[in-house]
Amino acid sequence: MSSRTEIASLGEFGLIDHLTRNNETRNASTVVSVGDDAAVLDHFGKRVVVTTDLLIEGVHFDLVYTPLTHLGYKSVIVNLSDVYAMNAIPTQVTVSIGISNRFSVEALEEFYEGVYAACEKYNVDLVGGDTTTSNKGFIISVTAIGEVAEDRFVKRDGAKKGDLVCVSGDLGAAYLGLLLMEREKKIFLESPEVQPDLEGQDYILRRLLKPEARKDIIEFFEKNDILPTSMMDISDGLSSEILHICKQSNAGSILYEDKLPVADQSREFAFKLELDPTACALSGGEDYELLFTLDQKDYDKIVLNEQISVIGYITEPGEGVNIITRSGKKHAITAQGWNAFK
Ligand code: ADP
Ligand code: MG
Repeated sequence: MSSRTEIASLGEFGLIDHLTRNNETRNASTVVSVGDDAAVLDHFGKRVVVTTDLLIEGVHFDLVYTPLTHLGYKSVIVNLSDVYAMNAIPTQVTVSIGISNRFSVEALEEFYEGVYAACEKYNVDLVGGDTTTSNKGFIISVTAIGEVAEDRFVKRDGAKKGDLVCVSGDLGAAYLGLLLMEREKKIFLESPEVQPDLEGQDYILRRLLKPEARKDIIEFFEKNDILPTSMMDISDGLSSEILHICKQSNAGSILYEDKLPVADQSREFAFKLELDPTACALSGGEDYELLFTLDQKDYDKIVLNEQISVIGYITEPGEGVNIITRSGKKHAITAQGWNAFK
């Protein structure tokens, strides 16, 4: 970055105009976008879903190792993931920022580059937001809006006895990426001359810094006429999410350790840190994969999809939420799944 433009030189309105000057509209449901008191949307008789997330510097992200472009991308992705978790298709986002003069216009341009990249990739429109000052730290609030046919949205409370418990992709990688970045940050603060050692860790780093939302899985459901009985996205960790589904569905569940999908790179890095990869898969957050339950009759429809793993099944509520380990032992799952393995 060569030049630095002060936000004050543009002013609030100038800054908003600048950041949204190339903003495009992709969806017919976007009737009025950025520039008025409110956006106007017309979803033509479909159900509309709305979700919002607040991200605070130092709590949810660390600018020491998070590039602003990636942060902009991820801020949108985490909200789109919540829309997909309802079996809906995201159509619009609003992005609100709290900034101090520590940030230049160029820094915000980088952040918006990520926002626009996510909007383009997921075919959503940026239709508004708010811009305000923050005394300390960068604050980001994104709201996403999506649509779904009135009989197709999927909640967390529909899992029933005998249903298959499934997850998309693999688990634990983002958490291991976070441990890697925290380790490198510590080394850097102690001895800034040491080059970061990120060799061979591209997968877990990408999962932390540039996650994707599982649009492909929702499209796969649509194409194959699959309607999960319950679904949510995995932001806090599998343990915590399966407990939510079971509680809200008034059900129990049995998961199998040997069925949990963990990528080779995650497993290797976990071993390097002397951590149990299963504990990382159960408790590591921010994977933004989908956890869902399916009626057994749908098994044939998903069995060939390598992006979907069947990891267990739903039981009676009285049986609790348990995992069967590789050695055949049964452990109760708690919100911090690793405790069960100590
Ligand atoms: P108001 O005072 O009515 O809230 P603003 O001046 O804050 O309006 O915003 C003007 C327009 O710019 C609105 O359409 C708003 O949604 C949009 N906007 C404001 N901040 C942002 C931002 N950070 N990103 C995208 N759009 C924004
Ligand atoms: Mg405003």
